[in-house]
Amino acid sequence: MKKLKVNADACIGCGLCVNMAPDAFTLNDEGKSEAIAEMEDGAADEVIASCPVGAIEE
Ligand code: SF4
Repeated sequence: MKKLKVNADACIGCGLCVNMAPDAFTLNDEGKSEAIAEMEDGAADEVIASCPVGAIEE
């Protein structure tokens, strides 16, 4: 399992990670994603690779 972090300065609030993993990410009041739960390693790697601005970090 991995607990990911979102770089709020880089996140553009596209919502892709929230759609891919609604149990692990949520959009906050500022429209930025926040990691709220650990993810399976494979799913974590997939969402890290999918963020269009590379804002998701381990
Ligand atoms: S996929 Fe990346 S840019 Fe889009 S909401 Fe998630 S962290 Fe932000």
